[in-house]
Amino acid sequence: MSDGQPRIGVLALQGDVREHVAALRDSGAEPVPVRRATELSEVDGLVIPGGESTTMSRLLDIFELIEPLRERVAAGMPTYGSCAGMILLAGTVVDGRPDQQQLAAVDMVVRRNAFGRQVDSFECELPVTGVDDGPVHAVFIRAPWVESVGEGVDVLARVPDIPSSGLAAGRIVAVRQGCVLATAFHPELTGDERVHRLFVETVRAA
Ligand code: GLN
Repeated sequence: MSDGQPRIGVLALQGDVREHVAALRDSGAEPVPVRRATELSEVDGLVIPGGESTTMSRLLDIFELIEPLRERVAAGMPTYGSCAGMILLAGTVVDGRPDQQQLAAVDMVVRRNAFGRQVDSFECELPVTGVDDGPVHAVFIRAPWVESVGEGVDVLARVPDIPSSGLAAGRIVAVRQGCVLATAFHPELTGDERVHRLFVETVRAA
């Protein structure tokens, strides 16, 4: 960590890497794209972006990153996953591919593509615990939701239980376990850095 600016990696194998890099920079961190184990060893925390979890899982194998990543996560590296990143962080995935790798950093069951095949995207105003000054405009794109969490997991947000939320009403969409944070939505796409700031604070505190 230099000048109080944590070095935060963005897993750069696939997905919306650039948007996370920009959001981290605007949140007071030094963002670093991570494609190799040596790069992973040099960061204070890691963001796993949205994209496609099955593809990312395959690329983690090909780039020989899966074991180093498991080790760092198990050793307590602060990690934040959005959407596909949330899926990778989960212990269990419903509707995943059988060979899909899990980092099991959060004791939760997530349902992949939960919002339905027809409903590719969904947006709502979402109050998030730990994020002050009003709800976050949450954008969900072929997103998972969390079906259940274990005892050590804090639920940070649920989709508002109102008719316009449809089947997603009341579903868990943001969680935290220790210094691991996961959201089913994409704060990197909206220009609102509050979720990234929350993560940067987590990295600083770790
Ligand atoms: N449906 C994707 C998956 O299974 C996630 C979509 C996203 O990250 N926007 O990985």
